[in-house]
Amino acid sequence: MANEDNLFKNVIAHAKEYGFIFPSSEIYDGLSAVYDYGQNGAELKNNIKEYWWKFMTLLHDNIVGIDAAIFMHPTTWKASGHVDAFNDPMIDNRDSKKRYRADQLIEGVIEKLEEKIEKEVEKAAKRFENFDRAMFVTTNARVVEYQKKIDEINARLKDAMGNGDMAAMKQLIDDLEITDPISGTRNWTDVRQFNLMFSTEIGSLADDANKIYLRPETAQGIFVNFLNVQKTGRMKIPFGIAQIGKAFRNEIVARQFIFRMREFEQMEMQFFVKPGEEMKWYEYWKAKRMKWHQTLGLGSDNYRYHDHLNLAHYANAACDIQFNFPMGFRELEGIHSRTDFDLKAHEKYSGKKLQYFDTEDNQSYIPYVVETSVGLDRMFLSVLSKSYVEEKLEDGSERVVLRIPAPLAPHKVAILPLTKKDGLPEKAEAIMNDLKYDLRCFYEEKDAIGKRYRRQDAIGTPYCVTVDHQTLEDDTVTIRDRDSMKQERVKIADVKAKLIDACSINNLLRKI
Ligand code: ATP
Repeated sequence: MANEDNLFKNVIAHAKEYGFIFPSSEIYDGLSAVYDYGQNGAELKNNIKEYWWKFMTLLHDNIVGIDAAIFMHPTTWKASGHVDAFNDPMIDNRDSKKRYRADQLIEGVIEKLEEKIEKEVEKAAKRFENFDRAMFVTTNARVVEYQKKIDEINARLKDAMGNGDMAAMKQLIDDLEITDPISGTRNWTDVRQFNLMFSTEIGSLADDANKIYLRPETAQGIFVNFLNVQKTGRMKIPFGIAQIGKAFRNEIVARQFIFRMREFEQMEMQFFVKPGEEMKWYEYWKAKRMKWHQTLGLGSDNYRYHDHLNLAHYANAACDIQFNFPMGFRELEGIHSRTDFDLKAHEKYSGKKLQYFDTEDNQSYIPYVVETSVGLDRMFLSVLSKSYVEEKLEDGSERVVLRIPAPLAPHKVAILPLTKKDGLPEKAEAIMNDLKYDLRCFYEEKDAIGKRYRRQDAIGTPYCVTVDHQTLEDDTVTIRDRDSMKQERVKIADVKAKLIDACSINNLLRKI
């Protein structure tokens, strides 16, 4: 059985062994922070997309979806601020030769201080019956001291990041006496800015005029199409545009499997609102998105909000929805109130008006935008890591099961004839032919039935339909439930409705 430390390693190994995720171009030893989705991974990924896409575009009649190109006119990235400001501060340790994001090293110190506060709070909560947390954190000398330190570090970090002051960043790392986790030394280089965009050339000439970028976010494809969609769709504010697509970032530190990739996918929605109403919508989308996540049933405690202290250049409010990944709580989704920054900038750089005419107010304005942006790969990792369970069974044996929410599972049902003879395969095939239009089925007749059940557990198939000799007599089969391992006998005629009900993404959406 795995302990917490190697659980993540086991999840990664399992993902490869069972066709979910492979390192990219593995036969050439892989490519750092790039991954391929295998036959089961692609299905799971598609189901997550469907859950998101339907939530946005079916449940909200004022949200429509688009699919913009990855390549965009290079001025797009000048206007959006990415050419000048999409940088991360990087620092190297000369002894370990490892590269880090300077801001993350500093945030690590803050996290440790926060953990210390939590420990003090936990200790005190156990001691006093009517424990008042708010009172405690403002009066306990040790906690007050920790909080003061956190505030001080945050203020210096915010200043340094805001002013692009890399020397101040380095000074902070020195003052906090941060050591490299690998070498244990403080032999750091200076902090340098590093632009995260990948560039390439378009056309046959390789001079600078032909330089274009692989988009670092999908959002800009929505902004530049704002008026196209609004006019052709006769959209009235407030309305949203949703998109799922690839994004590329040359991440400095990319060591956490699919959590931080150089090529990844985003599911973004830009919601255009009347200026002044953005905070109302920001709160609305914060709550809605949290509900969407929690409805999956991976455990509500595994999600929390994290408000941004250091706001990006385009935002007047921002928060993350964090998930309890194997390496701790980390950002899963960002929700940002982006003001009119992007549309205004595109107006300026393109010279084209990007305004909305509000017939109710009889005036034109540049709408404000509230954005929800979730990484598809991080969603995948959240589902995979929380679904992965190593179980000891009553008979002393062990099994690995992926308790993937049934509507997201790669296969909904495995159809298994008990033996290869006596007409059982023919009966099983007939059942499969009836189910396959509505449910992704997996057919298998090789090996003992117990072994086949275990293989389905390992890829997260929620149901196994077994065809046995009784089936030939009374047209019933057994349905085995992946999680409880219980079997029930049902009429073949009832199988389809029962499984569709349990595995439907639409039913999941109804619970939001
Ligand atoms: P982080 O702080 O983790 O680098 P970010 O704040 O830069 O993320 P956003 O620009 O807000 O991320 O992007 C929106 C979402 O896209 C993130 O919440 C995350 O789920 C996903 N995402 C961003 N960068 C990556 C990446 N390198 N690999 C996988 N997913 C990513």
